[in-house]
Amino acid sequence: MLPAPFEYHAPKTMDEALGLLDELGEDAKVLAGGQSLIPLLKLRFASPAHLVDINKIKDLDFLEERHGTLSIGPLFRHKSAERSSLLASRYHVMADAAPQIADPIIRNRGTIAGSVAHADPSGDWGTVLLALDADLVLRSKSGSRTVKARDFFSGPFSTALQPTEILSEIRIPVAKPQTGGAYLKLERKVGDFATVAVAVHLQMDDGKVGSAGIGLTAVGPQNIRAERAEAALLGARLDDDTIKEAAALAAEAAEPKADHRGSVQYKRNIVRVFTERGLKRAYERARGGG
Ligand SMILES: Cc1cc2nc3c(=O)[nH]c(=O)nc-3n(C[C@H](O)[C@H](O)[C@H](O)COP(=O)(O)OP(=O)(O)OC[C@H]3O[C@@H](n4cnc5c(N)ncnc54)[C@H](O)[C@@H]3O)c2cc1C
Repeated sequence: MLPAPFEYHAPKTMDEALGLLDELGEDAKVLAGGQSLIPLLKLRFASPAHLVDINKIKDLDFLEERHGTLSIGPLFRHKSAERSSLLASRYHVMADAAPQIADPIIRNRGTIAGSVAHADPSGDWGTVLLALDADLVLRSKSGSRTVKARDFFSGPFSTALQPTEILSEIRIPVAKPQTGGAYLKLERKVGDFATVAVAVHLQMDDGKVGSAGIGLTAVGPQNIRAERAEAALLGARLDDDTIKEAAALAAEAAEPKADHRGSVQYKRNIVRVFTERGLKRAYERARGGG
């Protein structure tokens, strides 16, 4: 199918893009990698009168550590995350997730920010950002505001983003020493969306858990943060009992639905098993192991 007619805009500056969104409001959609939006247009699930393509705006493709923050730009693509030595060395949960997103063609164009803005409950990056306790900077013509990832998602394909706003930066606390993470994803075949996935991020402090983040993919109406599981880890030594307790709490936090990919019980069990495995892997990495 062909998309409904739309007017295409290719602003060269962020101010120009924000001006267009301010003027066009709900009639416009931002176009980043196009890997979710273009299929929606073709299927006519979305038919905005205007597309504001941000790809011609310079300097939006960045990943850098500055002022205690890992800062990610709106055009930083899945493939760049997959190839980043910084992420591989210090942000394991991101490095694990990147090569598991879709296939190489989609990874070449799709962006982390676009994925988060799209807010598919089966999307991987939202879960990763929940585990990393990220902040999202939302910019409009009248200024910018910062929203915690945990407050950003409000339901399937729903977020705190207003039609006049661009997700202009993702900010993640810089990885401290003794930090480890992991992303485990069950998919029916390579390139598929998750049946279930779990993101884990740990920072160890003097042999105890200094901070912990656990996110769940595809087991609820939105990406889920397993808060009680995180709380059970704080200040604890990571022995088998603590890991089992946190994994059980993560499974309780899941709200899966039965479908052709599995029953509720099966999906909850995968959450439990992946949380256990993810915690063990993250702990190993925090201690300097692969
Ligand atoms: C076959 C297939 C398999 C896939 N598999 C996976 C998978 O396994 N895991 C996964 O996580 N994803 C998967 N995806 C989705 C893919 O990751 C997309 O790249 C991603 O969801 C959207 O990013 P994008 O840059 O392409 O955004 P676009 O498609 O350009 O935009 C998506 C939405 O976000 C909005 N938007 C984009 N950027 C911004 C911004 N900076 N500020 C405000 N709004 C913005 C757009 O207006 C639109 O509503 C798959 C997609 C396909 C087609």
